[in-house]
Amino acid sequence: MNRFFAKEIQDGKAFLESDESYHLAMVLRMEIGQEIEVVFDGRLYLARIKNNDKRQAEAEIICEKEVNSEPNINVTLFQSLPKGSKMDFAVQKCTELGVSYIVPIITKRCVAKAKEGKEDRLNRIAYEACKQCKRVSVPHVNKCKSLKDVDFSFYDLAIVAYEDENAVSLKSVLEKREKLSKVALIIGPEGGFEREEIDGLKASGVMCVSLGRRILRSETAGMAALTAILYHYGEMEI
Ligand code: SAM
Repeated sequence: MNRFFAKEIQDGKAFLESDESYHLAMVLRMEIGQEIEVVFDGRLYLARIKNNDKRQAEAEIICEKEVNSEPNINVTLFQSLPKGSKMDFAVQKCTELGVSYIVPIITKRCVAKAKEGKEDRLNRIAYEACKQCKRVSVPHVNKCKSLKDVDFSFYDLAIVAYEDENAVSLKSVLEKREKLSKVALIIGPEGGFEREEIDGLKASGVMCVSLGRRILRSETAGMAALTAILYHYGEMEI
């Protein structure tokens, strides 16, 4: 069944986003009376088209549907800003995999610079990825922050993937933890972390882990660690 994001639900009526209205009316050429799924505010509904206007389509809610696409663990990815379009790629793929929030961070060896308004584009990418993979909660992409300004005490577990960590694996850290609700995952830039950044993170309670014997690109490391965390806690049925 075709699924659309709504901008508002009022008095049992869903008002679709403008791009969704256009898609429903002009691309899919859907008719009044056809049933659709509507996503609003992290919830999923069965609805019937009442108005197929290409600028403002409306649907009448029939009932709420069960959602099974969202993980029960919130993983926030703190991704060091990579060069070029790699952040777009990381946002798209980590959204598909089940990340809950993304915070682009600037670390000492980041070459890329934070650009005003970049998060709008990244939020759009997250939204498009959710439509494609049928998630109902769009991960929020924050404004870029400096690593030193982030307080990780909010999380049940904060993990930094460090390329020079040889003794502690991600697996060994997860095995010691019961199911968690909020996890921070910190990934370094192309040039890696400076030792003093790792020391600072460790001093604030962040666990330093290895992701294995091969050095992954920054954007691959986030995807691999996110997948491992969600898989470990049974949030990925693969
Ligand atoms: N320039 C570094 C080097 O040559 O060792 C590699 C940095 S790596 C491309 C970018 C980031 O991905 C790292 O800072 C780390 O967060 C993560 N990463 C990649 N492979 C990793 C591994 N095997 N273990 C832990 N973290 C890894």
